[in-house]
Amino acid sequence: MSKGDLYIVATPIGNLQDITLRAIDVLKEVDCIAVEDTRHSRKLLNHYGIDKPLVSVHEHNESQRADEIIARLEVGGKVALISDAGTPLISDPGYTLVKKVVAAGYTVYPIPGACAAIAGLSASGLATDRFQFEGFLPQKTGVRLERLRQLSQQTSTLVFYEAPHRIVSFCLQLIESFGEEREAVFAREMTKNFETIHYGRLSEQLVWLKGDRNQQRGEFVVMIEGFKLAEKGEVLDIEAAQLMDLLLPDLPPNRAAQIAAKFFGKKKKLFYDYALSKKA
Ligand code: SAM
Repeated sequence: MSKGDLYIVATPIGNLQDITLRAIDVLKEVDCIAVEDTRHSRKLLNHYGIDKPLVSVHEHNESQRADEIIARLEVGGKVALISDAGTPLISDPGYTLVKKVVAAGYTVYPIPGACAAIAGLSASGLATDRFQFEGFLPQKTGVRLERLRQLSQQTSTLVFYEAPHRIVSFCLQLIESFGEEREAVFAREMTKNFETIHYGRLSEQLVWLKGDRNQQRGEFVVMIEGFKLAEKGEVLDIEAAQLMDLLLPDLPPNRAAQIAAKFFGKKKKLFYDYALSKKA
């Protein structure tokens, strides 16, 4: 008997047309589909005329279910994993399953499709050459704020998921950590009836959210522009700032700026101004 396969299948994040032809073929061909929530997925699968045995995989039973799925693969079974929406494993279950299935030597096939983070980025107008996916931050305020503090000088675009009931307090926490001038994009209800992609500084995002309770409803991807140190049109990037931070405790500003400017091949004044801004 041939060895079984596991397929990781992306499903829509709202609009039911956002599924690939291949995803539908695979879901029709497998012996069983692992899902987060059987009732939710049954509805989705009915829409595509797919009727297969479902097995629930969630946070609390994933390890045990992974062993059961591997037992199916051992006898040549073909299994698909879907989540409630979008790409499995992206802030969704599946990590333990995939890790165990890979370790057991079976092939895992990605069947790509919708992902809220990528959809949001694609319409954000923010830099996408480098981005950092943070997903949902921990819920405890202190832990959240500490994580945001660590991210405040990250130069890549930051991508968060947030629940609607926390969206206003999250916006306030973002302002506290990144300052109200930082550019942000709030992508709400993408691909659905009330899709809204709102662009602006964090201060403007807060006014928008607070000004209309309807804008606080639904699902959100929040994207934040990476840290920039702008000085008269020129930018001292994070690595340059870090070198200055290392040198400044031991050298006069002028000397530190000379060394750093030589190292990075940039104007000394940029570094000298940075040193002065640190003193202020
Ligand atoms: N696996 C999914 C994916 O590929 O994006 C994410 C699942 S996670 C449990 C759900 C979160 O994703 C929501 O709380 C929201 O932050 C984001 N999300 C999902 N669908 C969305 C949509 N249509 N518009 C905006 N954000 C969405």
